[in-house]
Amino acid sequence: MSETRCYICGHRECEERSVTYVYRRHGDYLIVRDVPCEVCLHCGERYYAGTALLEIERRFMAIYEQAAQPYQTVQASVVAFA
Ligand SMILES: [Zn+2]
Repeated sequence: MSETRCYICGHRECEERSVTYVYRRHGDYLIVRDVPCEVCLHCGERYYAGTALLEIERRFMAIYEQAAQPYQTVQASVVAFA
C-alpha cells in the first residue's frame, strides 16, 4: 500500500501489483506479463513507471525489427461489438 494519490478519483489507496500489459502500435500488439504498476484500489486505474513503459516499447521494437524473439505467440479473434 502506498500513499500515491489517484489522478482519476483522488483516493490515496494504491497497491503495487504485477499485471499484464497490452502494448499496441499501428495494429501490432505485444503482450507483456508481470509488469509492475500501482493500482488504485478505489477505481482500478493503473500507474506505470516511465522506465517500465520505455522498456516495454524497447522490447516491442526489438521484436518488430526482428532483433529479438518473443517466447510465445498467440492468435486472437477479432469482432465488432455492433
Ligand atoms: Zn482511483
